[in-house]
Amino acid sequence: MTKDKGQTLKVIQIGNSILRQTAQPVENFAAASLQQLIDDLIDTAIASHGVGIAAPQVAQSYRLFIVSSHPNPRYPDAPLMPPTPMLNPEILSHSQTIVEGSEGCLSVPGKRGLVPRYQEIEVAYRDRDGNLHRQVFTDFIARIIQHELDHLNGILFCDRVAPLGDRAVEFKDSQN
Ligand code: ZN
Repeated sequence: MTKDKGQTLKVIQIGNSILRQTAQPVENFAAASLQQLIDDLIDTAIASHGVGIAAPQVAQSYRLFIVSSHPNPRYPDAPLMPPTPMLNPEILSHSQTIVEGSEGCLSVPGKRGLVPRYQEIEVAYRDRDGNLHRQVFTDFIARIIQHELDHLNGILFCDRVAPLGDRAVEFKDSQN
């Protein structure tokens, strides 16, 4: 059996106060503990089939998340993207267009909801070596980034679920 670099970490659940904290910026990019955390988060995202995971979800309150979009039963149309760590991310600008899409969260088991998000965002972030990137993301990837960035500010998707209004009937047969 081969041992890869990371190990799977325990994902904390809604009700844990760490999920409600504002996470701290990453400062020491060379720290072995940071690099290990990134490897562990990537492994945890893969093992849990998540399309994204933020450090606070493994009780590490740092401004760091992994985007790991891939098609899967929950999101069959998700684009395939290698697991990408984003550190100290910021949204620089966004579209006026807001789209609703279904979201769930590894820290909110058994729940899904329609969440409004910007359709397009321009993001600045550091990679795991500390290099600055500035990039535009759209649609599903933009949604993942906004969901994960919320985790760094103590916000969960269920805080943003759109009021059902006259669409409530759509939820009658939902799985959850
Ligand atoms: Zn989440």
